[in-house]
Amino acid sequence: MKKTDLIDTLIHQGQRKRLVDELRQKGIQSEMVLNAMNAVPRQWFFPKDFEQFVYRDAAFPIDHGQTISQPYTVAYQTQLLGIDRGAKVLEIGTGSGYQAAVLLAMGAEVYSVEYILPLLKTASEVFKAMGSKIQLFHGDGTLGLPAHAPFDAIVVTAGAPSVPETYISQLKIGGRLVIPVGDQTDEQKMMRITKVSDTQTKTEILQDCKFVPLKGSLGWQ
Ligand code: SAH
Repeated sequence: MKKTDLIDTLIHQGQRKRLVDELRQKGIQSEMVLNAMNAVPRQWFFPKDFEQFVYRDAAFPIDHGQTISQPYTVAYQTQLLGIDRGAKVLEIGTGSGYQAAVLLAMGAEVYSVEYILPLLKTASEVFKAMGSKIQLFHGDGTLGLPAHAPFDAIVVTAGAPSVPETYISQLKIGGRLVIPVGDQTDEQKMMRITKVSDTQTKTEILQDCKFVPLKGSLGWQ
């Protein structure tokens, strides 16, 4: 991908505005999140041959059996993180790079881990063309990123069988982990876990959701 491939026409912008209205109607209230959703051209992260679907509020298959998350889900998870500009955020599962781009648009300092190398390469080329500052890592995201911890927030964009302890230990006090958890690979509940102190957490169990499985040593085998 080159800089000249980063096209964002008036038609894209109009469709994106309508999508943002739809997200507002579906319950996304944070103006900061809605502005970030409005600022990121989803077509840059979306399969080229299916551009007519880019501003539908739906997940869509990308390469290697993975998906680009549904815009509502990206907005919902981002809103749950409750971050301010300058927050240090870890994302697990870079995939297309779309969620990471929304976090950058929120003014966050973004670290993202992906274990399928070709996906990471494609996303990395888009960020390079955009001139965005993001730190991308290849590896097993269930281990977090101990060398760069602690984080203000961690967002997991794949469904976990349980909450890996690694994430709690890599949060700052007051930090938040947003993670889909379920005992089925294709059905989860969104959970938000706040690290209240070194030894205490607060857990909120939220909406039903559907993510591709989180693989790796503390994920699905
Ligand atoms: N955030 C992405 C969603 C991608 S789907 C987006 O906005 O498009 C989830 C991603 O998690 C997939 O790309 C999958 O390869 C990745 N993944 C699954 N298990 C992982 C692990 N243990 N470490 C890192 N990435 C993982």
